[in-house]
Amino acid sequence: MSCLFCKIVDGTILSTAIYQDELCYAFADIHPMAPVHVLIVPREHIGSMLELTAGDKDLMGHLAIAASQIAAQQGLTNGYRVVINTGEDGGQTVEHLHLHLLGRRNLGWPPG
Ligand code: AMP
Ligand code: ZN
Repeated sequence: MSCLFCKIVDGTILSTAIYQDELCYAFADIHPMAPVHVLIVPREHIGSMLELTAGDKDLMGHLAIAASQIAAQQGLTNGYRVVINTGEDGGQTVEHLHLHLLGRRNLGWPPG
């Protein structure tokens, strides 16, 4: 398996764990864009949002709730941003679906 985030999930590549459960793993982004920058990935390999089907409804809900719980754990009471870069136009660089949780600074809008 050549997928970077699959290797992070199985521990072949080291990461700083933030949260984990039976369906997902969350770890610190290696190039943080905000004081809090956590990546939340499903343990199962899904390439991107482009591959989602109706069968992924529970998993995607689970990831959203995990993001909300991690944000609370990190004390992001003033708000935060959750981003899912998707495909080439979406700026996705790692082809294993992931949520970015960004917080503890004012992020501005629209993104560049
Ligand atoms: P994206 O551009 O949305 O595909 O996001 C990929 C993210 O993975 C980027 O923010 C990278 O900084 C991050 N990243 C790449 N390699 C690692 C790694 N080994 N550990 C933690 N984060 C990583
Ligand atoms: Zn993967």
